[in-house]
Amino acid sequence: MKIYLLLLLTLSFNACGNTNPSNTYTLKEEKISLAAMDTSKVDLNFLMGKFDPAQNPNFVKIPLQYANHEGMYLQKEVFDAFLKMYKAAKKDSVNLVIISATRNFDAQKGIWERKWDNLQTDKDILKATDKDIAIAKKILEFSSMPSSSRHHWGTDIDFNSLENSWFEKGDGKKLYTWLQKKGPKFGFYLVYTTKGKKRLTGYNEEKWHYTYKPLSKKYTLQARENLKDTMISGFKGDHTAVKLDIVKNYVLGINPDCY
Ligand SMILES: [Zn+2]
Repeated sequence: MKIYLLLLLTLSFNACGNTNPSNTYTLKEEKISLAAMDTSKVDLNFLMGKFDPAQNPNFVKIPLQYANHEGMYLQKEVFDAFLKMYKAAKKDSVNLVIISATRNFDAQKGIWERKWDNLQTDKDILKATDKDIAIAKKILEFSSMPSSSRHHWGTDIDFNSLENSWFEKGDGKKLYTWLQKKGPKFGFYLVYTTKGKKRLTGYNEEKWHYTYKPLSKKYTLQARENLKDTMISGFKGDHTAVKLDIVKNYVLGINPDCY
């Protein structure tokens, strides 16, 4: 597998020649990109969520006062940045509540397979010509396939509500506007913006999902260079990953400001 990967990487690197894949990269960013292509520096198990955050020394447990339930984890650097942002938001009467943080492969598999089972008898799905693809696409409106979620990385947080409508009025609108304006100052960016010109593919809009870019940018680039659709397996419906081109359409279907 290692040799195969190396070959793939060599091929993709050669295919690019000496041209920068994106002219907008600064020299520093390009260095990160090249580091991301070095397989010896990439922990694929980590990228695919195959670890226990409770046992990982880079992760900390989120105190309940900042969350809506116990037992959630973030990378320490991310939690420290969140704390600074939380305090600044509090001063402006905005109350940030973490409702989801790190979810490893097993946690994501639980979510995916529950939805997979529930959709088996859905009447719209039953009309589809390719039932499995239809189910996968339906789940992918809002949920990732295990191995391909940004929540694996301990860098991404869902805030306050999983309903876009909550962020459109009252306290929700105030929080959304505050995060849009102040979040980047603390390193936090909205990932799943409205689909359109700036974001052509991927999950539907999620007004609650933010990433800590100073860390996650590196993982995004590592995933772009090293994660392959064929590696996404070990759950019900995993055979649809290649056909749906999960890495290109979903892992990379993000707000370009997160790169
Ligand atoms: Zn999320």
